[in-house]
Amino acid sequence: MTLKSFLGSVLRPVLGWAFFDVTRENESMRIVLLGAPGSGKGTQAKKLMADRNIPQVSTGDMLREAVASGTRFGLKAKSVMDAGNLVPDEVVLGIISERLAQADAENGFILDGFPRTTQQAIDLEELLDEMETPLDTAVLMDVDFDILVKRLTGRRTCSRTGKLLNVYFSPQEELDAVTAAGGELVQREDDNEATIRNRLDVYRENTEPLIDFYRKRRKLVKIDAEGSIDEVYERLLEALSS
Ligand code: AMP
Repeated sequence: MTLKSFLGSVLRPVLGWAFFDVTRENESMRIVLLGAPGSGKGTQAKKLMADRNIPQVSTGDMLREAVASGTRFGLKAKSVMDAGNLVPDEVVLGIISERLAQADAENGFILDGFPRTTQQAIDLEELLDEMETPLDTAVLMDVDFDILVKRLTGRRTCSRTGKLLNVYFSPQEELDAVTAAGGELVQREDDNEATIRNRLDVYRENTEPLIDFYRKRRKLVKIDAEGSIDEVYERLLEALSS
């Protein structure tokens, strides 16, 4: 246990997280969130982004924006994404290198959904070496397979507010409130059962090897990502402080 994590475990219950946020204000935080689709990477990345003022960089979100813009590239990406397959490595590397060069990523970033292949992890390592800003930590978000499937098949977005809900886990009042207010519970196009099965297979085959990749580099920390969003977030902060 390092001095920092020891002090953290002793003082955190007394002083709360705010103290640690102040002490770590000037620290950079360059992290990768690793985990299967449905492990909650996007949700946790958004919370961390709001708390630490560093951007969430989600290749999935950026690709969905490209699809929505209707460009030729977007149309090509859409068919790959709808099937739950991976967009070519060189395409996502191009997107990522442009994004990480932007000013708001200077003090850190939370990579969500990238890297997804060993080649992407090697490319990222080279890119960060060139920028002289090495990665700090890769956090593996661990969730049982059956829960992943329910999180993905049950995931819905309110068409009015964009709020994320789940037909299996959200309180019934919250689900009812969406329709009562005239909204609809919309399912992401790649959240249907066939695509989900493929996305999970693609994860196992292409992305799971990254666990060893980062373990060998002593950058890996694993957290239990089951439970409420706040419980998982607390575990994430604890993992990042150790
Ligand atoms: P996500 O929102 O992270 O689940 O990503 C949605 C889809 O975008 C994936 O199923 C892939 O088709 C594509 N995608 C996102 N990130 C990557 C990546 N790093 N490499 C290849 N394809 C990606």
